[in-house]
Amino acid sequence: MKITFFSTKPYDKEFFKKENEKFGFELEFYETHLGPHIANVIDNTDAVCVFVNDKVSAEVIKELATKKIKVIALRCAGFNNVDLEAAKAYGIKVCRVPAYSPEAVAEHAVAMLLTLNRKTHKAYNRVREQNFSLNGLLGYDIHGKTVGIIGTGNIGRTFAKIMMGFGCKIIAFDVIANRDLEAMGVTFLPLIDIFNQSDIISLHCPLTEQTHHIINKESLAMMKKGVTIINTSRGGLIDTKAAIDALKLKQLGYLGIDVYEQEDKLFFRDLSNNIIEDDTIQRLMSFPNVLVTAHQAFFTEDALQQISAVTLDNVSNLLNNKNLTNKAAMLA
Ligand code: NAD
Repeated sequence: MKITFFSTKPYDKEFFKKENEKFGFELEFYETHLGPHIANVIDNTDAVCVFVNDKVSAEVIKELATKKIKVIALRCAGFNNVDLEAAKAYGIKVCRVPAYSPEAVAEHAVAMLLTLNRKTHKAYNRVREQNFSLNGLLGYDIHGKTVGIIGTGNIGRTFAKIMMGFGCKIIAFDVIANRDLEAMGVTFLPLIDIFNQSDIISLHCPLTEQTHHIINKESLAMMKKGVTIINTSRGGLIDTKAAIDALKLKQLGYLGIDVYEQEDKLFFRDLSNNIIEDDTIQRLMSFPNVLVTAHQAFFTEDALQQISAVTLDNVSNLLNNKNLTNKAAMLA
């Protein structure tokens, strides 16, 4: 049985080849995104394996169906990039990795917060230039601050527990309140109260029609002046132009993003010798109080090992008409 991978990097090949010693699939790797331009190269394959920026549209799924693909396996948790209705219509099964090391992503959100708050990225460069002055490095204590979490699933809940250890007051919004977190002292409130009361807001909900641009001109205006926002979830949660306006007004005090609405044209590539045409990201990166990382929150050895193990287990089960080990992995 053969799996064809798209958007692969050297580390994907390394982890999947090692894990595949237990499964014995034939593996084929392409660096390019999956899209209508490339679907024709798929030949004699049982499953395709895709990542966050592969656009698995109805058009692509139709082509996959003609190639007799049985499974689309996402090697990530989010699935906003796959047309699930089209997959169902063509009888192609779709699976994902619902929970691989939520700690990897939650810890990266904390790393972004601490970098912005204590300006360690600036201190690192400054000291290397033998500039030992502290001017401009003034931070704030995280202890005692109110942290608002939007989405308390695997990652949001892990982030909440870490921030409790810092001595923060945790408030949260989710479409389903989490009883375990409530028992630990987290207060679930309406979204508007999260916007009004938080000193720090961290986004951990999926990108859906309801959450698209959840951070926008109106919600930013409701927030405390100087609020810190961290987004390790999906770029489309933030209206980037509204965030830029709020940064200029100093309404938004700090912004840490690991994801960006137009990231598919930028992230996971070395563009250091290119002219970047996206003026929005260039403007964002010009702010001293904005930290951008290129979708690396998941990128730990522990997470990559789990991603490859769960993905191959999913494909093996689906191709052998068995139930998935984790029901939440099944999307269509
Ligand atoms: P999850 O499914 O465990 O949790 C998502 C939570 O969001 C659920 O509790 C759900 O009820 C809640 N939710 C759904 N709609 C909502 C809404 N309208 N408002 C508020 N909450 C809502 O997912 P997870 O594993 O915690 O992942 C969260 C997101 O993180 C994923 O959707 C993915 O986009 C992103 N992610 C990013 C990276 C990265 O490397 N940056 C890695 C993994 C996941």
